[in-house]
Formats: sequence, C-alpha cells, structure tokens
Amino acid sequence: MRTKIVAGNWKMNMNFEEGIQLSSEIAKTYTKKNQEEVILIPPYIHLSKVKEVALAAGLKVGAQNVHFEKNGAFTGEISAEQLASMKIDYALVGHSERRKYFHESNQDLLKKIKALLAEGIRPIFCCGEELEARKSDLHFKTVAEQLKILWELSKEEFAQLVIAYEPVWAIGTGETASSLQAQEMHASIRALVKEHYGKPIAENCSILYGGSCKPDNAAELFEQADVDGGLIGGASLNSNDFLAIVNAL
Ligand code: PEP
Repeated sequence: MRTKIVAGNWKMNMNFEEGIQLSSEIAKTYTKKNQEEVILIPPYIHLSKVKEVALAAGLKVGAQNVHFEKNGAFTGEISAEQLASMKIDYALVGHSERRKYFHESNQDLLKKIKALLAEGIRPIFCCGEELEARKSDLHFKTVAEQLKILWELSKEEFAQLVIAYEPVWAIGTGETASSLQAQEMHASIRALVKEHYGKPIAENCSILYGGSCKPDNAAELFEQADVDGGLIGGASLNSNDFLAIVNAL
C-alpha cells in the first residue's frame, strides 16, 4: 500500500507569528487516521518552530528548496546537511516557480535530489506542463522529459522519492485539472516508473496532484486510482481548508 500524502506549500507567505499560528491551528485539530502523511512546507524562517509544533501532532515538515552543496560560500542558501540537522523530513525539488523564476536546470535538480537523499531527506519532485504544451497535446512528452533525470537514480534512491504532478496552468489560477486529466497523467508517470524500476517500486510510489486543489475538488481528485494525495498551495494557508483537504484523503 503506498502512502497517501497531503503537503501544504506556503510559498513566500506568512510572517513569523502568522506561520506559528497556522501550524498550531493545524496541529491542534489534526488527528492521524491511518498511515497518511501530512506535511507542512513553510518558508525557512518557520522551519525550526513548525517542526516542534508538528512533531507533537504527528505532522511532517518539509523545506521549499535546498542547495546542492554541503556548505561554504553560497550566501543566502541552505544545504541538505543543515536541513537534516533540524530533522526536516521532506524538501520540494523542481517546483515550477523555481524552474521559472530561478532558472533551475535539470542537472541542478538532480544534484539537489542527490544531496537530500545523502542526508536522509525525502525529495518531493515536481513536474508539470505549461498551458502551451497542454494545448499542443505535448503534455505527456513534456512530463516524460522532466522525469528523465530521475532515471539516473538507483532503485533504492528512487524509492525515497515522492512525485508531484502540477500542471503549471493550474497552479494558483483557480483552474484545476479534471480528475480524468490528473488520472491519465498520473497513470502515465507510474507506467514510466514501472518501465525503469519495476512494478513493486512503481506501485509504492506516491504521486501527488497539485494545482488549485481545494476542499470542494479534493475528494474527486484523490479518488482516482493513481492520485495518492495533493500538493496544496493557496488552500494550505487556511487551517480549515487545509484540514478539509486532508480529510478528503
Ligand atoms: C503549488 O504551488 O504547489 C500549488 C499547487 O499551488 P495552488 O494550490 O495555489 O495552485
């Protein structure tokens, strides 16, 4: 049975006090039901405090980014070793905003994944096509291209990964992929994983959907056979909305 996951990516939102309040509200109401994982992914400034709050409630904590070097003269960056020293569980890699605004290359993403794995932190690898690719019917090809770097990982390394399919045209736009569009892309991702690593690893790989996932559409998306939960942006900034999405798992 693969792990069902809901992860809340706060992006560059919430001042320190607001972030602590949000995580406390979530921690107060959340009760772990099965083997699901609920992950809070705040900005770096919150990580230490949110980790404390989350730990007591059975929530996991992720970072939004990581630098691939271990340490040194990289002003403004945070390494996997530093995240591991705070017992951070997950980190996003390849979010479309990082690809677009910070020009992260595929090779950078692979180095980040390797750096995280070396420290025992699970990468959540984001992929997804732009609107143009979807309109030109190139969405499967685009995502397959983005996934190519993952095939350089060993089976053991890959088994630690979570994949998030986030069509760029659905992120923060209010326009969600239909459950059919999500299911067919997730199934094609799982088929590629199977081709490279075999059936057991493919069956165990959690593939999350991200892109305007809200309390009113989460259940239908999560019901799909190959959708194992969600990566949530906007709706993760409100504890009631986020917990309603968690309950939809
Ligand atoms: C995201 O940025 O990962 C995301 C899914 O955002 P939103 O839910 O706001 O579309």
